[in-house]
Amino acid sequence: MIKEIKNLTTIEEVVRFYGFNIRNKRFICPFHDDTRPSAVFSEKLNMFKCFSCGSGGDAIQFVAKLHKIKQIEAAEKINVDLNLNLSKNEKKNKKAIKCNSILKIKKNILEEKFESVLKLYKRFESVDAAYSNFLENKLLELIELEVF
Ligand SMILES: [Zn+2]
Repeated sequence: MIKEIKNLTTIEEVVRFYGFNIRNKRFICPFHDDTRPSAVFSEKLNMFKCFSCGSGGDAIQFVAKLHKIKQIEAAEKINVDLNLNLSKNEKKNKKAIKCNSILKIKKNILEEKFESVLKLYKRFESVDAAYSNFLENKLLELIELEVF
């Protein structure tokens, strides 16, 4: 079911569904004491990443972490909450699975890029707040252009 959920939902709709306001692909991170939106999501990667605490993952990992439940329980919760009507019978869901190997390879390349951008950001994190904001905006521009 986990695979089907990942294919049928987007990180954005799941984050929004559980009550988070999203602005410019960013939202207040629920996994640390966040005051400005530090969590960013990528539509292409279908995952989120928090630039402050480092939390990240797909929609299922987000819900699992949010409700402190196992991933399979999170998958079932999303299935019920978002009315996905997925069956527990994997075979019945085969039609819903869009397995595209080229897309997977692209996803891996994008994930690597995302990680390297994150490392770059972290290196500058100790610099003062104004400069950090500047860097963050630059970073988001960069992500928009190259990764997202
Ligand atoms: Zn965080």
